[in-house]
Amino acid sequence: MTRIVIIGGGPGGYEAALVAAQLGAQVTVVEEEGPGGACVLTDCVPSKTLIASSVRKQALLDASSLGVRFDGGPDHDAGGVAVDMIDVNKRVKELALAQSNDIAARLAAEGVEVIRARGRLVDPQVVRAGDRTIRADVVIVATGAHPRVLPGAEPDGERILSWRQLYDLEELPEHLIVVGSGVTGAEFAGAYRSLGSEVTLVSSRDRMMPNEDADAAEVLEEVYRRRGMNVMGRSRAASVKRTEHGVVVTLEDGRTAEGSHCLMTVGMVPNTSGLGLEDNGVRLDRNGFIEVDKVSRTSAPGVYAAGDCTGVLMLASVAAMQGRIAVWHALGEAVQPIRLATVAANIFTDPEIAAVGVSQRQIEAGEIEANVVKLPLATNARAKMQGFNDGFVKLFCRPNTGIVLGGVVVAPRASELILALSVAVQHRLTVDQLAHTFAVYPSLSGSITEAARRLMSPLTAGGI
Ligand SMILES: Cc1cc2nc3c(=O)[nH]c(=O)nc-3n(C[C@H](O)[C@H](O)[C@H](O)COP(=O)(O)OP(=O)(O)OC[C@H]3O[C@@H](n4cnc5c(N)ncnc54)[C@H](O)[C@@H]3O)c2cc1C
Repeated sequence: MTRIVIIGGGPGGYEAALVAAQLGAQVTVVEEEGPGGACVLTDCVPSKTLIASSVRKQALLDASSLGVRFDGGPDHDAGGVAVDMIDVNKRVKELALAQSNDIAARLAAEGVEVIRARGRLVDPQVVRAGDRTIRADVVIVATGAHPRVLPGAEPDGERILSWRQLYDLEELPEHLIVVGSGVTGAEFAGAYRSLGSEVTLVSSRDRMMPNEDADAAEVLEEVYRRRGMNVMGRSRAASVKRTEHGVVVTLEDGRTAEGSHCLMTVGMVPNTSGLGLEDNGVRLDRNGFIEVDKVSRTSAPGVYAAGDCTGVLMLASVAAMQGRIAVWHALGEAVQPIRLATVAANIFTDPEIAAVGVSQRQIEAGEIEANVVKLPLATNARAKMQGFNDGFVKLFCRPNTGIVLGGVVVAPRASELILALSVAVQHRLTVDQLAHTFAVYPSLSGSITEAARRLMSPLTAGGI
């Protein structure tokens, strides 16, 4: 029986463990914090749970435009809605723990041994976990990453915070300064603004979310400003210090911003030091990420790696797929190398931004030839009925064949709408095929089939 030892119990590790157990391997997971990893305990699951509260609050604030109003009271803000952060954060932590327990139960049911300890490689076939030494035919490293700390802006857990420390707050920050306007910064800035904090978003670049579709980022920036957020572009933070009652953020150009709390979201550092990796022939890149090929092999025979510690695409779905691929390859099963071009990703702002396939940037850079159509959400009947004006559906297809290459959806619950485009990209469907698919009337997904119709060749386009 093949013996597999996995270091790290996040999506990269536990998904690998489940597949390996189902294929008959003897599996041990070494995890120091708890099953589910940072994804479940501190990052993805808690943030999306907090965002669920903020989206609900924003919907209540926006309800007056649909003729629905609430009474205000002493605890209520101008929209007449109150938020209890103790309850919000209690729910966040309980839900994360429950999810971790579910994963622990599933692993136990599949016969996976979980050791609560810090693991390290002793040699490519031996893992040390606490006081145990385990021999392995295959080792999978799935140790994730941790928040990057900016020198001069070290989190203290009280006023200067990493996102992992947010859920201990008992009150809504009066004025939250978010340093870093990537996906994580944008998600938290929007969530706290909707919950009722004054928010300043400090972005070192021209616009927020510089790596995402520019049209989508612009929609969101406009929504954020309309909701009263102070978005500071081209403002690189040099230091964050505590003051008597809060924090002061000093920018590199000498300007300052003062608030009650500061949230640092300036990237991730892989958890790859002190694991005995390089000593055992596992090559790291210059940023400390483990180098892997498309079937998750590292440079050391028998040692695979999956998830954020590889820096491939820091998403839970990608970590899980890398982990499964590692197992399939190690156990000699049929395996397809990972295809990053088909990964669907979502930014859980409000509205959400979901994307799959090629990007507008690749098209503009001339890397890919594509026809593009963009339909504003304001033209969609269901969006009008629901009072959603901000967002769009954008579709890319090959000019001659009409094969769908990708798309971007900016809309409430875009994370659910993108699946239609993911299926199209994965199975190389054409815009004609997409256009001939029934969408419910009225629905936001109707804009996807409508966009496909606009991209159809004139001979087949027809009309309804
Ligand atoms: C705020 C935030 C929100 C996010 N939201 C989303 C989202 O909505 N959707 C999405 O797809 N992705 C999201 N992500 C990214 C997602 O969380 C990661 O891509 C995912 O967690 C990666 O999984 P992983 O298994 O590589 O690592 P992790 O989930 O980080 O798990 C690694 C585990 O390894 C353990 N470990 C580390 N070193 C050792 C050791 N030596 N011995 C034993 N155990 C060890 C750690 O304790 C940890 O539990 C978010 C990230 C952040 C920061």
